[in-house]
Amino acid sequence: MFYTHSTVDRADHIRKDVDELSRLWAHDKARIVPVWQNKSLVVKNTPDTHAQAVFLTRDRAPDDGQRIFLGLDDGTPYFAQDVSALNDAQAAELCGQSSTRDGEHYDSEFLDLRQAGPMLSAQDGSLLAYARGLTFWNANTRFCTRCGASMESHNGGHVRSCSNAECAYQAFPRTDPAVIMLVIYTPTDNSEPLCLLGRSPGWPDGVFSTLAGFVEPGESLETAVQREVREEVSVETTDVRYVASQPWPFPRSIMLGFEAIATTTEIQCDPDEIADAQWFTRNELKDFGNWGDETPGNKLPRPDSIARFLIDRWLASGV
Ligand SMILES: [Zn+2]
Repeated sequence: MFYTHSTVDRADHIRKDVDELSRLWAHDKARIVPVWQNKSLVVKNTPDTHAQAVFLTRDRAPDDGQRIFLGLDDGTPYFAQDVSALNDAQAAELCGQSSTRDGEHYDSEFLDLRQAGPMLSAQDGSLLAYARGLTFWNANTRFCTRCGASMESHNGGHVRSCSNAECAYQAFPRTDPAVIMLVIYTPTDNSEPLCLLGRSPGWPDGVFSTLAGFVEPGESLETAVQREVREEVSVETTDVRYVASQPWPFPRSIMLGFEAIATTTEIQCDPDEIADAQWFTRNELKDFGNWGDETPGNKLPRPDSIARFLIDRWLASGV
């Protein structure tokens, strides 16, 4: 599953040790993942290679910008640094000062991970997702939700505490649970099994994907699956089964993947959320193009998504 292959040991025990964090930051081997206005620094792929994450050494990191301890990978300390305060020219300058895991220097650029993710190796994609998620949370947790005072970073960027001593509220990085589900129907007349895919208004032409939605307070994940399918396409489901999960830091979700069995088949789309939804056989899906194809016709969702994982899994189960 993409974005779940980080080899970084998060080393929670180090986060509270201010002296050790300072020592690791000053370490010659320290690698810094810069995040600029939610964008990640990458060198684009060539026909022969993946795109790659690129890092700053400490002497090339800007003085300003919050540092977040990501962890250790085979003795190498990794930090994220929020360099969003840099202007366009300064950010462009940084692109010429970076290097990849192998220490080579390439021309790099800041790209949204939504765009760069599918081009990266699973290891680099996971590290950049981790850095992007924590940077976003810190940048968007500036004030206390209880008393409105400013928040201060602690534990290497993994805790934020209210600066008002009487309040002392602590906030921890949050992630929003969303369910994503492949709805399956097996006809009783022995005709081919079907799966239900839909497309949201505004998606690229022809792209169909699994349905999805956020979990609401007071409901189980299974109930959320059934409610979302009912709301979006008016189909009833049963036998909701968990399959897999995926962090999705756009900006801070975790996608909880399910399969569900349809007990009704008539589709009525909620036009606010779903522009079109249809039942497809495995053979029909095999004729779909890929996300990003310029050619006309139906297309599968982006290759780094759990939606694609759920669809590919169902296709493989029918072989
Ligand atoms: Zn407070």
